[in-house]
Amino acid sequence: MQFFSSIFKPKKENKAMNSSMITDLKEAHYQFFKAHKKQSLKVRIDHLKKLKKVLNEKEQDIFNALDRDLKKPVFESFTSELLMVQKEIDAFIKNLKEWAAPKRVSGSLLNFPSQDFLLSEPYGTVLMISPWNYPFQLTMAPLVGAVGAGNTVVLKPSESAPHTSKVLIDILSAVFPNDWVSVVEGDAQVAQALLKERWDYIFYTGSTQVGKIVAKAAAEHLTPVTLELGGKSPCVVDGTAPLQKTARRIVWGKFLNCGQTCIAPDYVLVKSEHKDALIQALIEEIEKAFGVDAQNSKDYGRIIHEKHFKKLEADLKNQKTIYGGKTVAKELFFGPTLVDQPAMDSSLIQDEIFGPILPILSYDTLEDIDEVLTELKNPLAFYVFSQNKKFINTLIQNYPFGGSVVNDVLVHFTNPKLPFGGIGNSGVGAYHGKYSFDLMSHTKPVVKRSFWLDLPQRYAPYPKSISLLKNILKRV
Ligand code: NAD
Repeated sequence: MQFFSSIFKPKKENKAMNSSMITDLKEAHYQFFKAHKKQSLKVRIDHLKKLKKVLNEKEQDIFNALDRDLKKPVFESFTSELLMVQKEIDAFIKNLKEWAAPKRVSGSLLNFPSQDFLLSEPYGTVLMISPWNYPFQLTMAPLVGAVGAGNTVVLKPSESAPHTSKVLIDILSAVFPNDWVSVVEGDAQVAQALLKERWDYIFYTGSTQVGKIVAKAAAEHLTPVTLELGGKSPCVVDGTAPLQKTARRIVWGKFLNCGQTCIAPDYVLVKSEHKDALIQALIEEIEKAFGVDAQNSKDYGRIIHEKHFKKLEADLKNQKTIYGGKTVAKELFFGPTLVDQPAMDSSLIQDEIFGPILPILSYDTLEDIDEVLTELKNPLAFYVFSQNKKFINTLIQNYPFGGSVVNDVLVHFTNPKLPFGGIGNSGVGAYHGKYSFDLMSHTKPVVKRSFWLDLPQRYAPYPKSISLLKNILKRV
C-alpha cells in the first residue's frame, strides 16, 4: 500500500500514512468544521479570492505538470483545465452571498400563521476522489463548490497524474489551513482506507466500476454521495447538417486530450447514405488538425499510462480500421483512428473507449437507432447533428442521458448555468456553479410559528366527524 505525503502532515513528506493517521485527519477536519461552522461567507470568499490569485501565480507550474502527466498542449490546459476553474471561482465569488442567503417560501395554510424558510447548510467533512484525465479541473472545480458551500475537504487525487497532484498540494496548502483542505496522495488502497471513515459527503469522479465500490462504502455509513462516472456518449448524424462542419466538431471533441474525455463522442451513428462522405470529412479534419502524422503534432496528447495504452490496443484487435491505427508504445502515442462497424458484442462497443478510437456505425431507420441506444443506454452525453427538428426532438425526448448538445459536442460542460452529471451508469448528482453549491449544501427547511392562532381541533380528543375539516380543506 502506498501512502504518500499530504498537506495534513506537510513536514513529514513521503512518510507513510497508516489508517490511524487517516482517522486523525478525519477528526482534525471534523474539529475544524465544528469550530468554524459559523464561518462567515466573507472568510470563504476571501479564500476563494486568494485561491484565484495563487492559480494565476502558478499558471506555468500547472501547464508544466499537465504536460508531464498527459503531454497536454498549453492551449488545452488553459481552456479545458485552468479557465474552467477560474470561471467556477468567479461564479462563487460573485454569487455566494445570494446563494447562501436564507430563502423565504410561502407557508402552508395548514400551519397558518407561520414564516417558512430554507437554510443552506454545509454538510461538514467532504471526501473527494478524482481521476487523471482532467486532473486539475476535475479536482478543483468540485473543491471550489465544497469549500464555497462551507465544507472541509480531504482530497485524494489520481495516482496516475502525480505531477498535477504535486501542484495541487502546492496551491491548496498556500491558500487553506491544513484541516480545512488536505490532500492525501496514493492509490486505490489509500482511497479504500479513506472510504472506511465516516464522511458527511463523498464526491467521486472516475469509472463506473469504481463508482460502485464508492457507493457501497458510502452506504455503510449512509453518507450522501455524488458519482461522476464514465460515458459511452453517442453522436448521431442524419446528414441534414453541414457535413464538413459536423466532422470538424466531432474530431475536435473526440481527439481532445487524446480521446480521454468522459464526454467525448464515443461512437458515431450515421445515416447509411452519408457514411462514406462523413468518413472522408472526418479524415480531412483529422489531418487539418494534426497533420498526416499526429505523432509530430504539438497539439496531440498522449495516453496516460501503459495499462490504458494496452487496453486500447486490445480494443483495436480484429477490427476493421479504416483510418489511423498507428501506435508507438515507448511514447504512449496512439494516433487518431476510425473503425468501421465494430460488432455489437465487441469491447469497442460494449465498453467505454476513453481513447482516440472512433467507431462508425450506420443506421437506416429510427428502429436501428433505437436498437443501439437501448443497448448502450444512459450515456453521460448525447450528441445529435441534424437540421431536422422532429428528428432532434424525438431523440432528445426518448432517451435518458446526462446532458446533450445539438450540432456540437462537449460545450454544455462549459456553461456553469447548466448542471453537469450523469444518470444510471453514468452517474448520480450534478454540479457546476449554483448546482455545486446546492449539491454540497444540505437544504434545511425551518417553520417558525406564533401562538396567536391555535385551532383546538388538531388536539385530542378529536372532533367526532372529519366532514367539517374536509369542507374547510376544500376551500383552501
Ligand atoms: P478510476 O475509477 O480508475 O480512478 C479514479 C479515482 O478512483 C482515482 O483517484 C483512483 O485512485 C481511485 N480508485 C481506483 N480504484 C479504486 C478502488 N478500487 N477503490 C477506491 N478508489 C479507487 O478512473 P480513472 O481511470 O482515473 O478515470 C477514468 C474514468 O473516469 C472514465 O471512465 C471516465 O469516463 C470517468 N470520468 C468521468 C468524469 C465525469 O465527470 N463524469 C470525468 C472524468 C472521468
